[in-house]
Amino acid sequence: MKVSVIGTGYVGLVSGTCFAEIGHDVTCIDIDPKKIEMLKAHKSPIYEPGLTELLERNIKAGRLHFSTGYESVASAQSIFLAVGTPSADDGRADLKYLRAAAEAVAKNLTDGAIVVIKSTVPVGTSVEIRKLIAEKTTKKFHLVNNPEFLKEGSAVEDFMRPDRVIIGHQDAGAMKVMEELYAPLVRQGNPIYGMSNLSAEMSKYAANCFLATKISFINEIARLCDLTNADIEEVRKGISSDKRIGGHFLYPGPGYGGSCFPKDVKALVATAEDYGMDLKIINATEEVNDEQKSYVFSKVKKHYGDNLTGKVFTFWGVAFKANTDDVRETAAIAMARKLIGAGATINIFDPVATENYLHEMSQYKECEGKIKAFDNKYDALKGSDALITVTEWREFTTPDFGEIKAKLNKPVIFDGRNLYDTKKVQAEGFTYYAIGKFIK
Ligand code: NAD
Repeated sequence: MKVSVIGTGYVGLVSGTCFAEIGHDVTCIDIDPKKIEMLKAHKSPIYEPGLTELLERNIKAGRLHFSTGYESVASAQSIFLAVGTPSADDGRADLKYLRAAAEAVAKNLTDGAIVVIKSTVPVGTSVEIRKLIAEKTTKKFHLVNNPEFLKEGSAVEDFMRPDRVIIGHQDAGAMKVMEELYAPLVRQGNPIYGMSNLSAEMSKYAANCFLATKISFINEIARLCDLTNADIEEVRKGISSDKRIGGHFLYPGPGYGGSCFPKDVKALVATAEDYGMDLKIINATEEVNDEQKSYVFSKVKKHYGDNLTGKVFTFWGVAFKANTDDVRETAAIAMARKLIGAGATINIFDPVATENYLHEMSQYKECEGKIKAFDNKYDALKGSDALITVTEWREFTTPDFGEIKAKLNKPVIFDGRNLYDTKKVQAEGFTYYAIGKFIK
């Protein structure tokens, strides 16, 4: 099947490459010429495990093409819109990229094509986009929603083995084409659910808001553990063995970030407001998360006092989670700004996200000249007052504590990801702080 994918970000590039891998003829389109140039040179503009190998193989096999132009849309049976839908100032999803992409697609459509909204969009967007395209073309087309559930860091694996595929549609024929397209990915029995466009749009927000709520829930319980001397690691085991609760997404940390949860939580709240409804649980999820982003900082202040002038802190990890170079809304932003605001400077080490982070932080004038990046996690500790773990990269989980101790001014760890065994680090002579762990 001939497929065009608009947008070569985390979702578009992974989707396009994986569709090529299962045999489709795919053209990925982006308005960013730098990304397209890189891709034509077989280089991925994003870090995602396994992606470079797939890119290489499918470009060589002649199944995967890249372009800044929309010409391929004219011969595509399905056209996926996978552009960003970031937060606007009022918290609503900003649909300007989606509208622009839909207009460009409309000008190149052929009769019978299926336009697929893969981006996460508020309920009702399909109605607007269908109208917008119909105003720009006389061609007959179908409008389908196919929200994406992949996770950054395991995007290829998630796309190839989806828990489910959701297709929002109004036409049985369009559903059939989507079933054919996805057939190799649902062969192991993973369900492919057809539903209304509106339900498909809502399903994506409901899923993300539920997951964000799980994170805020465990973070809030962790804070209560800190006050009561219960230990969140024991409590997590105690509750996650209950099948109704489950163990996923119950890890306390420095607050959720990334390009999805923060914006999707805001967008669903805004949708509800448009209908005169106050989403109490989801609002609380966001409030708890905002507080959580200051929680490690509050522990630092408790240890050193309010004035951190002259202090140096080392962040291990700045990506919003492990296995990605994405730093959008990472806890490392709020944490650095607070520490620097109190007089400290920051050293950072991250296996892949350093460049993106420094770029992101360059917008905060108060942080200029206060953040120093290192290529080695131990070098980053030299002359620093404490280690702060921000991202749960595997390489941080079993470090050489002797070396950490030798490099730090004093052996202090603020473990924002609960990576370490309390007794072990204390036996190594560290003053240890974590999130909700019982520490004598
Ligand atoms: P991204 O910001 O990484 O990539 C978007 C890409 O679209 C950019 O490369 C941009 O240059 C390109 N673009 C913008 N306008 C264009 C146009 N008119 N024509 C062609 N290209 C254009 O975004 P992302 O993280 O891949 O997210 C895309 C959508 O998928 C969002 O709605 C997001 O909420 C959703 N989503 C993201 C994830 C995730 O983990 N990142 C997971 C599930 C769903």
